[in-house]
Amino acid sequence: MTSAKKSSSNPIWDYFKPLSCDLAKCVACEKLIKKRGGGVSALTAHLESAHPDKESLEYAERATKAREEEARRVKADINREVGNTEEAAKGVDPVVHQAQNGLR
Ligand SMILES: [Zn+2]
Repeated sequence: MTSAKKSSSNPIWDYFKPLSCDLAKCVACEKLIKKRGGGVSALTAHLESAHPDKESLEYAERATKAREEEARRVKADINREVGNTEEAAKGVDPVVHQAQNGLR
């Protein structure tokens, strides 16, 4: 029973980002939801009313993960560019050629 207070273990946090002790952001629609007394009932209510279909929630979850992965990839690209500029240029070239071919 007491474990219900642990917000990190609650699956609801797959769909919300905690901003402060009484404010959370919905990852699906980026709406700010005010919690009352630290409970998640307002979050659950938002999920049920705004996102009744699980598909959109799963999509939001995937989108969030994709965004995080992209951020990681961009970081890796920057590291690669800093470490090896030649290889970074090689990686850019085919894209430029493709774009030029597409224009012809
Ligand atoms: Zn939402």
